[in-house]
Amino acid sequence: MNPKLNTFDLIVVGAGGSGLTAAIHASQRGMKVMVLEKAPKIGGTTAWSVGSFTASQTLHQKELGIQDHPDFHFEDMALFNQGKGEVDNLALRRLFVDAAAPTLHWLMDIGVVFDGPYPESHHRHPRMHNVIPNSKSFAYHLRKECARLGVTIQTHCKVLELIHENERVVGVKALLNGQDLVDYRAHSGVLLTAGDFAASKELKEKYLGPDMAKAASVNPLATGDGLHLGLQNQGFLRNAHYASALKMRFVEAAPHWIQKIPPYAFIAKTITWSLKHLPQAMIRPFVMKFITTVLGPEMTLFQSGAVMVNQSGQIIDSSSTDVVFNLVKSPGNKGFIVFDQACADRLKAWPNFISTAPGVAYAYLGDYESARKDIFHKCSRLDELAGKIGVDPQTFKTSTQGLLEASSPFFYAMGPVRSYVTITEGGLVVNENFQVLDAQSQVIEGLYAAGSNGQGGLLLEGHGHHIGWAFVSGKLAGERILKFN
Ligand SMILES: Cc1cc2nc3c(=O)[nH]c(=O)nc-3n(C[C@H](O)[C@H](O)[C@H](O)COP(=O)(O)OP(=O)(O)OC[C@H]3O[C@@H](n4cnc5c(N)ncnc54)[C@H](O)[C@@H]3O)c2cc1C
Repeated sequence: MNPKLNTFDLIVVGAGGSGLTAAIHASQRGMKVMVLEKAPKIGGTTAWSVGSFTASQTLHQKELGIQDHPDFHFEDMALFNQGKGEVDNLALRRLFVDAAAPTLHWLMDIGVVFDGPYPESHHRHPRMHNVIPNSKSFAYHLRKECARLGVTIQTHCKVLELIHENERVVGVKALLNGQDLVDYRAHSGVLLTAGDFAASKELKEKYLGPDMAKAASVNPLATGDGLHLGLQNQGFLRNAHYASALKMRFVEAAPHWIQKIPPYAFIAKTITWSLKHLPQAMIRPFVMKFITTVLGPEMTLFQSGAVMVNQSGQIIDSSSTDVVFNLVKSPGNKGFIVFDQACADRLKAWPNFISTAPGVAYAYLGDYESARKDIFHKCSRLDELAGKIGVDPQTFKTSTQGLLEASSPFFYAMGPVRSYVTITEGGLVVNENFQVLDAQSQVIEGLYAAGSNGQGGLLLEGHGHHIGWAFVSGKLAGERILKFN
């Protein structure tokens, strides 16, 4: 292969939200950019997400007369991390809150449509903006923008190692189409945006322990390759032992034909308008059909009176947040959430939502009943319900005795549900120009990281901060990486 053809200003490793955003911004500054993606298609975990983006001082907030400020957002983010001590990266948190709204507005400029803002506890104002109709919209519009600007994207191309010259990172070695070893070179360096390590048994075992290592991952390609590359080249991880995100999630729904409709801005805007103006009972089932992510039930379900059984019908202790670990340890990492009519009545309206969900923001019992018939079961008799979810009726009846109201007119089960390491938190330590630093805080020349790879110890607890960081850090990295000739 001609080495000249494989030489660029910047190589971006990973075509998720942060990588594509960085590529676009670097390209706008005159750089010739190559994005290498190991999967057959772009999008990464970003395209698996619910798609909530939390930001302050947005156009959506202004339209509703909400007087918010990044300073307030900065303060409120700390409330999610109480009890963790002074471990957060405050410099990156500041970068994030200041650039969140401009980044959200830029995504809107390229065609991404958001609904909201929606409230969330710890945030003094509603700040959660949800992508419409689903998170495939990010990949769709970012790809279009890359094409418009001439950014090259090479899929089926797994980056294996970094190339150095004169103590500077100058390129990568990659496996193309599973067979050809190819060198790609870049004058300005390499940006790592290859996602987190939710699917790496080795890294989960090392940083999060054996139970977490047993949990499933939503995106099987999130194997922490970018973090490995950084670690092999003097970078180091901060806050890798925090995994806020061992979460229960309902199994994936079978794809619906509606999801084949491209996320054109006019379609998304029509849906947003309909959500505001049409009867909810009519529009919500339609919007729920667009959902392509795996939705996670909230812990509040158990506070509302629900219990969990395993695949044999025995109770899994759900009295504390340890329920996610109890589920991992139970046979097949498979459970069903079971409740009676009194609990069902509580799950019909705010604040007792079952999960956050794209489009509708918060999904309630009625939403699942209409749109997720595969995981929603309702029967007037417990033994009948046991049959529907495939557990032993006698064990089921005995183990739920006293926990569900015997005179309830209906009994409900939702599932299967499994425990997943949805995302991991540890990122390479970077400075405010997204240059990767070594353990002595020295810049590793030519090596940059953004998104999950460049999380640098920043704590992003709460909804909408991880996606926010992926796009914000991608945008800032693309704007700040210096052109080097
Ligand atoms: C089910 C789910 C729901 C979520 N919902 C939300 C939400 O609503 N709001 C929120 O804030 N966060 C959410 N998150 C988290 C959020 O999606 C991620 O933190 C964010 O998308 C990470 O973006 P990224 O660009 O860093 O990585 P990614 O989007 O994962 O992109 C990384 C890319 O790099 C590629 N890659 C990896 N290794 C290599 C290699 N060796 N060579 C080439 N390419 C490689 C990957 O295939 C991938 O395409 C959710 C996560 C999940 C799993």
